[in-house]
Amino acid sequence: MAYKITEECISCGACESECDVNSAITEGETIFEIEADKCTECVGNYDSPKCVDVCPIDEAIVQDPKESKEQLLEKWKKLHPGETPK
Ligand code: SF4
Ligand code: SF4
Repeated sequence: MAYKITEECISCGACESECDVNSAITEGETIFEIEADKCTECVGNYDSPKCVDVCPIDEAIVQDPKESKEQLLEKWKKLHPGETPK
């Protein structure tokens, strides 16, 4: 489930382009949304979750629930077959 966007989201859109590798974030009807199957908490791409780093609102992006690094890496490998995680 990785990260999830909550009702605290003000739909500023800053996070969407940050998820450049996995394309997990889209604009929903009222708030932005993260597709859980595509969110690896940025494991495999970056050292920290880029969407959380740029989000101006506390608690707008939360872990739900927390997955182990091994689970997140397995998800990354399914999303990027044949590639090597960073
Ligand atoms: S944590 Fe990373 S992979 Fe997950 S939605 Fe945010 S930018 Fe995308
Ligand atoms: S950066 Fe934060 S407040 Fe802005 S759209 Fe994304 S989740 Fe919502």
